[in-house]
Amino acid sequence: MYKAHKICVRCWRKEKYCKCNNKRLELIDHNMVYIVTHLNKKGYKTKFSCGGHVENKFIYIYILFYNNYAFDTLPEGFVYKNRILFYENMKLKNKKEMQADINHKIRILKTWVKTLNNAWQHYTGRQFDGFIFITTKNFNIKI
Ligand SMILES: [Zn+2]
Repeated sequence: MYKAHKICVRCWRKEKYCKCNNKRLELIDHNMVYIVTHLNKKGYKTKFSCGGHVENKFIYIYILFYNNYAFDTLPEGFVYKNRILFYENMKLKNKKEMQADINHKIRILKTWVKTLNNAWQHYTGRQFDGFIFITTKNFNIKI
């Protein structure tokens, strides 16, 4: 079943808890709410995401980021390319198997998000050779 929530992307709260004057509500897949909310709170700005739908012909779970963040680790089975972190599986045919695979990958993604450092702590103590880092508000951008 497709399920999504209206989340304010300014404060990353559910609609009923948002107190923003200029709230901006966007639909976020039920299984991605925790993941994108925590990524944004940690300073990794996200643009779009999809938690994978068994109604589709194949599984595609993805998060598109605003910037090219340099992650030290990636969630198992995911690829990070052109600002998109994604997992795809074209092999599964029945919905039950697809849902199980989606649930498994979402768990891996959640664990990864929990262990991620804040974006603005990401580079502390490291050499900045080869890249220029611009600090805007609370996150670092690799350009
Ligand atoms: Zn809000």
